[in-house]
Amino acid sequence: KSQAAIIGSGIAGIASALRLKAKGYEVDIFEQNDYTGGKLHSITKGEYRFDYGPSLFTMPHLVDELFGLFDIDPKEYFQYTRKDTICNYFWEDGKRFQVSANTKTFIKEAAKSFDESEEHLEDYLKNTKTKYDLTSKLFLEKSLHKFDTYLSKDTLKAIFNVGKLHLDSSLNEVNKKYFDHPKLIQLFNRFATYNGSSPYKTPGIMSMIPHLEMNYGTFIPKHGMHDISQSLTQLAKDVGISIHLNQKVDEIVYEKNTAKALKINGDDKAFDLIVCNMDVYSAYNILLKKIKAPKKTLSQERSSSALIFYWGINKTFRELDLHNILFTEDYEKEFDHLFNKKNFAEDPTVYINISSKEVKEDAQEGHENWFVMVNAPTNCGQDWTAQTSYIREKVIAKINKCLGSKIENHIEVEHVVTPKDIEFATSSFQGSLYGTSSNNKFASFLRHPNFSSKLKNLYFCGGSVHPGGGIPLCLLSAKIVSDLVPQPQ
Ligand code: FAD
Repeated sequence: KSQAAIIGSGIAGIASALRLKAKGYEVDIFEQNDYTGGKLHSITKGEYRFDYGPSLFTMPHLVDELFGLFDIDPKEYFQYTRKDTICNYFWEDGKRFQVSANTKTFIKEAAKSFDESEEHLEDYLKNTKTKYDLTSKLFLEKSLHKFDTYLSKDTLKAIFNVGKLHLDSSLNEVNKKYFDHPKLIQLFNRFATYNGSSPYKTPGIMSMIPHLEMNYGTFIPKHGMHDISQSLTQLAKDVGISIHLNQKVDEIVYEKNTAKALKINGDDKAFDLIVCNMDVYSAYNILLKKIKAPKKTLSQERSSSALIFYWGINKTFRELDLHNILFTEDYEKEFDHLFNKKNFAEDPTVYINISSKEVKEDAQEGHENWFVMVNAPTNCGQDWTAQTSYIREKVIAKINKCLGSKIENHIEVEHVVTPKDIEFATSSFQGSLYGTSSNNKFASFLRHPNFSSKLKNLYFCGGSVHPGGGIPLCLLSAKIVSDLVPQPQ
């Protein structure tokens, strides 16, 4: 039987393994860490459990689909609920706004709170849907690097409607066309951060992202975000995929332009097909040293990273929900620092995720598990100890201003993760969260393809390649890989 190997057990690696298994391959996953999931795993500190990375879950049907490949009801492994409240927003001047998952309610409340017309809000959300409908089949579900993609009806439709896609304006410019209130513009600008980009640079087409959150909805897995990778890991084991932990792949071995084997602990293990879930930049530098790397692709600007404080808090906050944003007073300055100065602005936007609001087992009664994240520049050798103590003070000040609290008195346990730690744990070059940024209109075309043009039988999945980062796109990368690989012998 044809044997496939997957390098890495990130969400895209596990999804690729499941798809290849369903296609008829025998599959082995090699993971350098002693846990599966890559960025999507879990840490425990004292009595608190925290999700290490992702906290926002959209498009759960892409996870369900993987169980469906084996005629298994997803609910046997993985359950989730839809959130009624999407996010709570806070500003220092005391303004607060809660985004309801009910679009009609959102439009009514946003119009009132930001003194905008309901029609503008309706038009905006309609346009985000149009953008998604026009481009998702082309940009997200197919390889952009195969000629027949460009012959499809969907491509022609996108080309005819290119004016509606706002490719020549930035997201900020598009949002300013629709709205006057700076805080509403800021709220919609934030969606650029969903793929680690700047709203002042990323093209207006990115205003399709709110469609995923507002029209598709946001969800929370029953046992927290790590439930996604852990339930899929269990499924993989149950359908006969071999998962090898603590097995770092050192090289992809090839012969006459065909990938043949993986070098692990000095031994060559032969495979008919190899799927690399390691960040593609690191893969060329470490696993494919003798292959000429695609310089232009690899020189693309990386997406932003994150600095995270995991705090066990011995108090509960009624004004907070699962997702909370405490906005900076100067968003443009924050992105200038992130992407140009490569440090933190003195007034950062603070994101607080509290999974124990929904997953009661994550903290004891009367306590909350706070995942406090600020967008961070990528790791370019900054002094992270100094940066962490600088930003910790600013984060605490922001929280206290917005919530009227003295949060420093309630931090019972603390763990900190910097961009350098993310790079070390996942081999993501410079610790970027989403591979390359989308800070220019050609970014989609400049991501690495899902296959190697140099080596036969070598494919790529995950956040650093097409179609991009974030759980839904990583899952789609696995689908594209599985569509590209040949039927097994
Ligand atoms: P990764 O998770 O990067 O995993 C790659 C795996 O490969 C790792 O396990 C690594 O150990 C392994 N590996 C690498 N090299 C080797 C080797 N040589 N041998 C063996 N194994 C190897 N996304 C969302 O959708 N929503 C969010 O809210 C969100 N927030 C985020 C917050 C943070 C702090 C972070 C870090 C990420 C966030 N993301 C979010 C992004 C999301 O986590 C990623 O896009 C996604 O999880 C990446 O998955 P991946 O399959 O590309 O692989």
